[in-house]
Amino acid sequence: MKALVWHGKEDVRISDVPEPSAGKGEVKIRVQVCGICGSDLHEYRSGPVIIPRKPHPLTGKEPPVIIGHEFSGDVVEVGEGVSRIAVGDRVAVNACLVCNECYWCRKGAYNLCAKLGSIGFAHDGAFAEYVSVPEYTCFKIPESVSYEQGSFVEPVAVAVHAVKRSRIKPGETVAVVGAGPIGLLVMQSAFASGAGKVYVVEPMPSRRELAKKLGATEVFDPTQGDPGKMIHPLTDGLRADIVFECVGKPASLETALKMSGKGARIVIAGIFTQPVEFPFIRMQAHEKELIGSSAYPDEFPAAINFLADGRVKVDSLINSRITLDEIIEKGFKELIENPEKHIKIVVTP
Ligand SMILES: [Zn+2]
Ligand SMILES: [Zn+2]
Repeated sequence: MKALVWHGKEDVRISDVPEPSAGKGEVKIRVQVCGICGSDLHEYRSGPVIIPRKPHPLTGKEPPVIIGHEFSGDVVEVGEGVSRIAVGDRVAVNACLVCNECYWCRKGAYNLCAKLGSIGFAHDGAFAEYVSVPEYTCFKIPESVSYEQGSFVEPVAVAVHAVKRSRIKPGETVAVVGAGPIGLLVMQSAFASGAGKVYVVEPMPSRRELAKKLGATEVFDPTQGDPGKMIHPLTDGLRADIVFECVGKPASLETALKMSGKGARIVIAGIFTQPVEFPFIRMQAHEKELIGSSAYPDEFPAAINFLADGRVKVDSLINSRITLDEIIEKGFKELIENPEKHIKIVVTP
């Protein structure tokens, strides 16, 4: 079968590889749609980041590896011992592979598993015609969720987990820094979880426009001044109860701090690749909290519900549909060279 194989930094190849079969406890899926994620770009541009350099402690996998982890498809084969999932099921797949034995797994914090691995990094992924995954990672999607929408269950779960981490209460004021895919999904998940107002900060005009279209209370351009001063008059000077940092850069963290009010919770959902200087005096004096958020332990059912009834809308995030053969030129290179033109590119095998 055809697959996108990661060999090294800026060395990914469309190759003909053996079709996987469903081993014991595994499910073989015909991939329908797989989205390109920022982390796929990181691996392409500067990997290995999440891809293991030596055999992964849980999966034993090391490069070369097939990447792709935001996907949906049809079950075509089930291995020995599989009982919950059947041939013909339409599924989305939780990318987290866990040991089910460690301290963190035993308390349900699977995203913190001591041996955490991810499909598409430490296990062959879904930029391929077929993929085989453990049964426990599969979640059935209803007919009302299209395959394209199904490919968003994974990033929506990331967003829903970030919202859960914020301990949001009904009616609270929220700010989201960064209107990329995760920021736009966090914004909608925050509304779906009871946010009163959600303000979005984003420098790219096309992304601000989309945030507004998807329901943002107001959007701010951080190149036009201090976004903290922009939210101030709209909130009687209180600013946001919760801020989601969805970028991972020093400037966006500074913006998140400026958007936050006294006693605010600031959730870090962006991936910081460099250390950042941070004015902790403003955290201490105003009793603010910094909260990390990574992946998801159990948010797939919630994500599927939000997509199924339209509380989280993703169709307008897709701005390009390409085939596996086109993924390097029209996918990775295009996203790197023209980020302002894109939110999400989805790939069909
Ligand atoms: Zn992803
Ligand atoms: Zn574990």
